Amino acid sequence: MNFEELGLHVNIIRALTDAGYTQPTPVQEQAIPAAINGRDLLVSSQTGSGKTAAFMLPALHKLATAEVISYTNAKTPNQERQSARSRGDRPRFVAAKPKMLVLTPTRELALQVTTATDKYSAYTRRLKAVSILGGMPYPKQMQLLSRNPEILVATPGRLIDHMESGKIDFSELQMLVLDEADRMLDMGFIDDIEKIVAATPPTRQTMLFSATLDGVVGNMAKRITTEPMVIQI
Ligand code: AMP
Repeated sequence: MNFEELGLHVNIIRALTDAGYTQPTPVQEQAIPAAINGRDLLVSSQTGSGKTAAFMLPALHKLATAEVISYTNAKTPNQERQSARSRGDRPRFVAAKPKMLVLTPTRELALQVTTATDKYSAYTRRLKAVSILGGMPYPKQMQLLSRNPEILVATPGRLIDHMESGKIDFSELQMLVLDEADRMLDMGFIDDIEKIVAATPPTRQTMLFSATLDGVVGNMAKRITTEPMVIQI
């Protein structure tokens, strides 16, 4: 099995070739075609299994192929600000409307996911990932959000701050990923996660990755996914 056979966009495959990936890992082989088809996923896999690419490659594929449609529908925040200015209104902050959200337990993991995304999206225009992390200065984050990134990678606490102050609007969110969900629950993020999930459209695609799918993680997974494909590596 190779990446072409999994159905990925040619520009993504080009980036994988640059990265030296010659064939998909077992988790990628199962997850990528299902995710491209819109299935929810529950994946039990360890770090090192290639799980980041297992959710990010199909997500980039979907965003890259849906690009034309998304730009005919709505104005970007920059376009909205420009038309406000041309009407003589005072420019105001327009909430970012990401299409994909990845929640991670730690800043380090969020940065790894963002770096991997930049690598995989090197040839897909305008698909950029931004990290929203505790400890990062607010003005810097506001500047990142004002570019209306399609992909947000965030730790739950800081994301809630921005949601509650109206800086992020999840009404156009298509994909939600919970990376290392068991660790996020161990770290006490359950209420934050529930709040974030409740702010996203019920029509979203949800992909949950965790070392274990038992117990508390399993219960949460049941509540937030619809007929998921279960992958155990
Ligand atoms: P992860 O499990 O997502 O933390 O990935 C572990 C490491 O494997 C990362 O350094 C990835 O860049 C690398 N990797 C992921 N998928 C592949 C692949 N199909 N071929 C070669 N390396 C890969």
